[in-house]
Amino acid sequence: MAPARTRVNSLHVAVIGAGAAGLVAARELRRENHSVVVFERDSKVGGLWVYTPNSEPDPLSLDPNRTIVHSSVYDSLRTNLPRECMGYRDFPFVPRPEDDESRDQRRYPSHREVLAYLEDFAREFKLGEMVRFKTEVVLVEPEGQKWKVQSKNSDGISKDEIFDAVVVCNGHYTEPRVAHVPGIDSWPGKQIHSHNYRVPDQFKDQVVVVIGNFASGADISRDITGVAKEVHIASRSNPSMTYSKLPGSNNLWLHSMIESVHEDGSIVFQNGKVVQADTIVHCTGYKYHFPFLNTNGYITVEDNCVGPLYKHVFPPALAPGLSFIGLPWMTLQFFMFELQSKWVAAALSGRVTLPSEDKMMEDVTAYYAKREAYGQPKRYTHRLGGGQVEYLNWIAEQIGAPPGEQWRYQEIDGGYYRLATQSDTFRDKWDDDHLIVEAYEDFLRQKLISSLPSQLLES
Ligand code: FAD
Repeated sequence: MAPARTRVNSLHVAVIGAGAAGLVAARELRRENHSVVVFERDSKVGGLWVYTPNSEPDPLSLDPNRTIVHSSVYDSLRTNLPRECMGYRDFPFVPRPEDDESRDQRRYPSHREVLAYLEDFAREFKLGEMVRFKTEVVLVEPEGQKWKVQSKNSDGISKDEIFDAVVVCNGHYTEPRVAHVPGIDSWPGKQIHSHNYRVPDQFKDQVVVVIGNFASGADISRDITGVAKEVHIASRSNPSMTYSKLPGSNNLWLHSMIESVHEDGSIVFQNGKVVQADTIVHCTGYKYHFPFLNTNGYITVEDNCVGPLYKHVFPPALAPGLSFIGLPWMTLQFFMFELQSKWVAAALSGRVTLPSEDKMMEDVTAYYAKREAYGQPKRYTHRLGGGQVEYLNWIAEQIGAPPGEQWRYQEIDGGYYRLATQSDTFRDKWDDDHLIVEAYEDFLRQKLISSLPSQLLES
């Protein structure tokens, strides 16, 4: 662990966004005695989990001047992780209050339950009082040793303020990435990105091709099978001859990637199969996007790699005044937000010392080189996957926190395995009850819950 300094600074800090990352960042910064203003352009906390039936007017979200709808949540969405491992460490994601029937008690609850959990979290720690709602940050730039933050409220009134530090928590599931499909410009069908998908009605009786088969692709294709004539999933991670009917429905097929699309409406897959399709749904992920950030070109986003960033959090030349919470993916998101936030708060107060700028840059360069040597594409720079335990435990060590619990890591590993191998049933069928028991016993031991849930006592 980096040596602790004796002098502890209390700084004036701006947090951008009141989603799951911004909320815990605000809590940790205040715990460390900083004064905090959270800027949130929406009218409530929760970020991505604030469902709206509205979507953007441009179904592929290509128009840079479009009206932005932040959330990418669809109506049927349930979490893709078991709730025990998904929550913040000291505020577990258990049904609250335990006897409230209106809450979703399932292990993989609906998006409404996640929002309710985040609202509970904000209420419990009185975070709302730090948030300036309906206030969008439009510019962040260095001003001497400090940071200028320009924001605009819902009346269009702009305000410039100076902060000692800025913590960026603006989320990264709002700016869609669209797959390049040969021939698409003359293909006559409709296209939509999963960011703008809410309910399946518009696909009634259609033949639909869904590109992408990770969490959203797997969910949305199944959602659509209920109303569509046929649904075909195209995935670039499948071998080129892939062609199979998927279990759980009689109109869903899995293919390799699309080879080309044509003026007559046909879609040719790499496996040689051809379908006449009405719509393509792009479940192809998102781009990091910081339209408000001006660092004179120091921080760039290239092929979805945000850099340079030390451990995905601190830009070496601007640390610790500027930091990013929540960039890595394929990991325990809320748990990571909590650890990263504690690290940022402690680095700002001086309780934890960061390495010199040169040392941080060396680390960034070595990290890029290692990823490249393993053949990882640049766009996967922030994908943790198998590296998450090392990363999360390393941050925990910096702040003197215990490493992540074994049950937590085992739950996410098992959860991802089930998602990949039984995408139709993974939320309702599992074989790791022992990990649920371990998790709840752990919560009980730490007095984070007052008793074991009745279902556990019965089993
Ligand atoms: P967000 O929740 O997106 O919050 C960002 C906030 O910043 C928003 O409130 C936004 O309004 C605000 N904002 C943005 N720009 C500005 C600005 N300029 N000025 C002011 N405010 C601004 N994770 C899980 O752990 N479990 C799951 O089951 C899961 N399912 C997911 C399903 C989908 C479809 C997607 C897309 C993601 C899922 N995730 C899941 C990942 C999820 O994104 C994270 O869990 C987490 O909610 C992201 O939190 P965040 O605070 O980083 O971003």
